[in-house]
Amino acid sequence: MRYLVISDLHANLEALDAVLADAAVVGYDHVLMLGDVVGYGADPGPVIDRTMTLAPMTIIRGNHDKVCAGLESPLLFNDVAREAAEWTNKTLSADHLRTLANLPMGPVQVPPEVEICHGAPFDEDHYIFDEQDASRAIDASSARICLFGHTHVPALFATPEAPFGPETQVPDEYALPRGGPALINVGSVGQPRDRDPRAAYGVLDMDRQTIRLRRVTYDIAAAQARIINSGLPAWLALRLERGQ
Ligand code: ZN
Repeated sequence: MRYLVISDLHANLEALDAVLADAAVVGYDHVLMLGDVVGYGADPGPVIDRTMTLAPMTIIRGNHDKVCAGLESPLLFNDVAREAAEWTNKTLSADHLRTLANLPMGPVQVPPEVEICHGAPFDEDHYIFDEQDASRAIDASSARICLFGHTHVPALFATPEAPFGPETQVPDEYALPRGGPALINVGSVGQPRDRDPRAAYGVLDMDRQTIRLRRVTYDIAAAQARIINSGLPAWLALRLERGQ
């Protein structure tokens, strides 16, 4: 079984299409979508439509999906995120808002060995950045392989033999620790924040016991023009080319 792992699309249609084209060549059997379909980008409706046609798929919601759907107040967001969430809420059709509001909360099990969450298995909105968070997440996870998003930064936490820690250099392909837990973030499709502006996704191959971490170039200028022309904050366009 090969899982296509995508997260944090953030209404970036150009990035999503580039990732799906690349993933079609790499090959996969089942899609795992870890939340944040919308928010920040200028194409929330088309990105929801494209995402919901992927099958078979297991999907969960992200914090931006909740806020854009109107399930939670945008007041805890920073100014730019709040402005984008309010714009997204106004722009989407009632059908699209319903689709977003109905996305399930993580964590969700993908038997027999995988679990997906947006932030962390113990709290869908928690950011996993360091070993302390990772340790807590591994303890809370009920599956050997736990996939998470939310930070927009690829990361691997594992317990091969001794203490676990983040990989400083993210490899193209990583052999999963035999029998041991692994906590994996494949990065963000629509708004990478690791200073590499290319769209990020992963392919988890349970037969080979590897995770492939893919980066894909896409038409950043087109996504930026859509953001500017939609009247969204200019920073949302600028950060795409900076990868932050
Ligand atoms: Zn996100």
